[in-house]
Amino acid sequence: MTHVITALCLRDGACVDVCPVECIVGGKPENEWPWFFIDPNTCIDCGACVPECPYEAIFPLDEIPSSYELKPGQEVQPFRGERWTAAGGEVIDLTMAQGVDGYTAAQANADFYANGPGYQARNM
Ligand code: SF4
Repeated sequence: MTHVITALCLRDGACVDVCPVECIVGGKPENEWPWFFIDPNTCIDCGACVPECPYEAIFPLDEIPSSYELKPGQEVQPFRGERWTAAGGEVIDLTMAQGVDGYTAAQANADFYANGPGYQARNM
């Protein structure tokens, strides 16, 4: 399986430093790849990145909340679209990438490596 970074990612980057298999990369260019992304073919599901994320944006693939209640002031970065701030109580489906119909957060993570810059983004 894999862990997945979701629309709660605000690019803190602490996850990168703890991943034992170095499979997390910050998306570039940021307007196309606004989050950090986990390579699903390399992730060993160790879970080390989860507590490092100050925004609680990372979940095991099969535990991504489909009804996630936002806290007041919590920010959401859609895969496409402007970042927005919750008043509190809004419920969003974190399995979806947000801003692209039918496109999941897991697909976004996988596509970054399969069809996007992937590890090359480290040199961009
Ligand atoms: Fe890396 Fe472990 Fe997080 Fe997978 S679960 S991205 S291997 S730190």
